[in-house]
Amino acid sequence: MKRIGLLTSGGDAPGMNAAIRAVVRSGIYFGMEVYGIERGYAGLIEDAVFPMEMRSVSNIVQFGGTKLRTARCLEMMTKEGQKQAVETLEKHGIEGLVVIGGDGSFRGAKTLTDEFGVPTIGIPGTIDNDLAYTDYTLGFDTAVNTCLDIINKLRDTMTSHERVSVVEVMGRHCGDIALYSGIASGAEIIVVPEIAFNMDEIASRIHRSRANGKHSNIIIVAEGVMSADKFAKGLQAITEYDVRPTCIGHVQRGGSPSMSDRMLAAQFGNKAVRLLNDGIGNRAVGIRDNKIIDMDIIEAVSMKKQFDYELYETLQMISM
Ligand code: ATP
Repeated sequence: MKRIGLLTSGGDAPGMNAAIRAVVRSGIYFGMEVYGIERGYAGLIEDAVFPMEMRSVSNIVQFGGTKLRTARCLEMMTKEGQKQAVETLEKHGIEGLVVIGGDGSFRGAKTLTDEFGVPTIGIPGTIDNDLAYTDYTLGFDTAVNTCLDIINKLRDTMTSHERVSVVEVMGRHCGDIALYSGIASGAEIIVVPEIAFNMDEIASRIHRSRANGKHSNIIIVAEGVMSADKFAKGLQAITEYDVRPTCIGHVQRGGSPSMSDRMLAAQFGNKAVRLLNDGIGNRAVGIRDNKIIDMDIIEAVSMKKQFDYELYETLQMISM
């Protein structure tokens, strides 16, 4: 394969720039030409395609966001849009494609492969950690670290005023950001979409912790359950403690990627290009048991994410 394309699609995630760098530099290493495509599938349909050089990706490894920018593109869901995307690839002689994004982006990649025979490789780039086939997605670690920084600060002020903090984190239908930030911050309670909750039980746990000498409480609520505002109102109605909501919001999506995300980016990007260089397409790269793996992209997106109940129990055992 002599010429490959690269795009970032769906929600952005810290580490996408580091992955772009790894793909471009690995491609050049193998003697390929690498073409960047702006704004995900929208740029592919609109022919926003340009050649990338060694120096196009200098000094980006440390930045959040994506240099190629990203978009959600409804046109890519239509036959007409897909045909146009393939025409752009053909026009530039692009023989293979690397797609950095979440499960939606992988579905777009699958269509290009299945219906138009374009070999594609998916790199899991999403803060949500909602892809079942990989232990971690790019951006998750940094997002959790951002949450930790904010929760630490909230703990300071909540303790001074003896308050209960309800902190809303992202993750869509996946509770992993809540679970990991909960354990790592010492939060007392997490509320995730995967497990039903009972407000009276939560109030009792807070009461018990106060009786045990605690001066503040942190409750982390995943956005897939409800907003911090709504949850705090519900809890305030049945408890005498001062309950304060905080929505961490979009800061979770930005910031300099952590060491773990930069390492994943380097390895995912390099693996994606190695596969294309070997003439292998239609794979999703990931990490499992600390090893970089690749698997069929369709199987990857159809696997059902399993919530880590043991980690959840761990939090419950050590958090009171
Ligand atoms: P995140 O997990 O961060 O939201 P994502 O990749 O899952 O990322 P989506 O908005 O679901 O984000 O998908 C990104 C884009 O992928 C869509 O805007 C669309 O262009 C394309 N896409 C999604 N599903 C399909 C599909 N079934 N067929 C073709 N293209 C698709």
